[in-house]
Amino acid sequence: MSVPDTAAGDEVKQTKEMEDAEKFSFMATLTKAPKKQIQFAEDMQEFSKFPTKTGRRSLSRSISQSSTDSYSSAASYTDSSDDEVSPREKQQTNSKGSSNFCVKNIKQAEFGRREIEIAEQDMSALISLRKRAQGEKPLAGAKIVGCTHITAQTAVLIETLCALGAQCRWSACNIYSTQNEVAAALAEAGVAVFAWKGESEDDFWWCIDRCVNMDGWMANMILDDGGDLTHWVYKKYPNVFKKIRGIVEESVTGVHRLYQLSKAGKLCVPAMNVNDSVTKQKFDNLYCCRESILDGLKRTTDVMFGGKQVVVCGYGEVGKGCCAALKALGAIVSITEIDPICALQACMDGFRVVKLSEVIRQVDVVITCTGNKNVVTREHLDRMKNSCIVCNMGHSNTEIDVTSLRTPELTWERVRSQVDHIIWPDGKRVVLLAEGRLLNLSCSTVPTFVLSITATTQALALIELYNAPEGRYKQDVYLLPKKMDEYVASLHLPSFDAHLTELSDDQAKYLGLNKNGPFKPNYYRY
Ligand code: NAD
Repeated sequence: MSVPDTAAGDEVKQTKEMEDAEKFSFMATLTKAPKKQIQFAEDMQEFSKFPTKTGRRSLSRSISQSSTDSYSSAASYTDSSDDEVSPREKQQTNSKGSSNFCVKNIKQAEFGRREIEIAEQDMSALISLRKRAQGEKPLAGAKIVGCTHITAQTAVLIETLCALGAQCRWSACNIYSTQNEVAAALAEAGVAVFAWKGESEDDFWWCIDRCVNMDGWMANMILDDGGDLTHWVYKKYPNVFKKIRGIVEESVTGVHRLYQLSKAGKLCVPAMNVNDSVTKQKFDNLYCCRESILDGLKRTTDVMFGGKQVVVCGYGEVGKGCCAALKALGAIVSITEIDPICALQACMDGFRVVKLSEVIRQVDVVITCTGNKNVVTREHLDRMKNSCIVCNMGHSNTEIDVTSLRTPELTWERVRSQVDHIIWPDGKRVVLLAEGRLLNLSCSTVPTFVLSITATTQALALIELYNAPEGRYKQDVYLLPKKMDEYVASLHLPSFDAHLTELSDDQAKYLGLNKNGPFKPNYYRY
């Protein structure tokens, strides 16, 4: 989830106008603070009142990886096997008599509502956005078709969009990740949601189609995660793009596809790349991994970190997060790097920089965070000591050469969910977690607060694209304006009772800044 590839990056347009805070009409209203910079106390008080694959192919391409990757943090608490009848065969209505949805079991709505209320507690930015913008209804008239994970956290986003005036139709971007009870709660609340855990691929496309293809209703905004929805609209309903004011895309894959479309001159509406916004990047990569690396390792292995020899491959954002957490618990951490700048940073932070082959015999845990492939090879695996734990926090499942372990002389023993012991002929065991897939997404939860950052960014991107005067955005992919990123961060500060210092006129003049931001140039590295 780092910066877009170079070709794609070249396409990014972050124009002078975009940086001009005053031109963001709605943003300007939102961020206008009467006396002090931002008044949060009232929001805080009000907020505290809240309780606390397989199947027929319909298209010539397969669904995106994000739609098939397992994502246990989003897993439903209810058993999806409780009822073998496909939701598509069921006749269900909510308490208001509407059947404009398709979920596993509408009767789970109350349970789902509790889950949503729990998520709301750590998503105060969205709740505060609801309050700030509700009078104005900045999304009045917006018809948003969405395709994201359907979890308690996205439900808070969807209900925020509705509170801001939008009509929403929603499907899941992942066939496994829907929390059935949450989908039921959304359906009960009147959202047209088409999703359940364990969809077949045919169901997946059917759900997307039900969201887009509706008599008398045509979407004018797209919120996508993975690009499948956007792809479907392009293929099946290109006319819809006459109405669409913009696409907001959050995933690496989806953003990559948008840049490809843009490069080929086929992107016919403006699109916002939410994935590469600074706040989202920092939270997804550094802060989230700093917490979830420990969670993932503990849940799967019960390992004690103090005194353990750990090697972390890659000292980028994810690696830095992992190293910081492990060091804090007393692990002896070494890192491997190919980049001298990151290697020097590691030295400054007190880590030894080594080659994997130099330490592989001694280490207790190996963690990959490079975004690269074959970082841990069969040769490394052969040389590891007994009980060495190997896992990946980086890209997909390419970093550890797991395929090389599927040979006749090695025995695989599944000892727990997501934990395999690979046994060598001499009895040595290597502990492989999540079959080399992302440890934290497979074996731990993503904190709601991290998801809140993304959801707030998505909401603001939708508001901005929907309200932008004609001509502000062309048929291209845009990064979120810095001002908006800063606003996302500022909405989250009250959770910590953090008090920002306000620039004096004199100081603002001295630094050449607008008192209300943006406070940093685009090239600033946080
Ligand atoms: P980054 O580019 O900041 O860091 C990767 C680092 O790995 C770089 O410093 C690079 O020089 C180094 N590297 C590359 N090849 C190497 C090799 N063979 N040996 C040692 N070091 C090598 O990227 P990042 O933001 O840290 O993300 C890393 C990966 O993690 C990406 O694939 C990203 O998609 C993924 N990611 C995972 C999560 C998660 O929740 N697990 C979250 C965000 C990103």
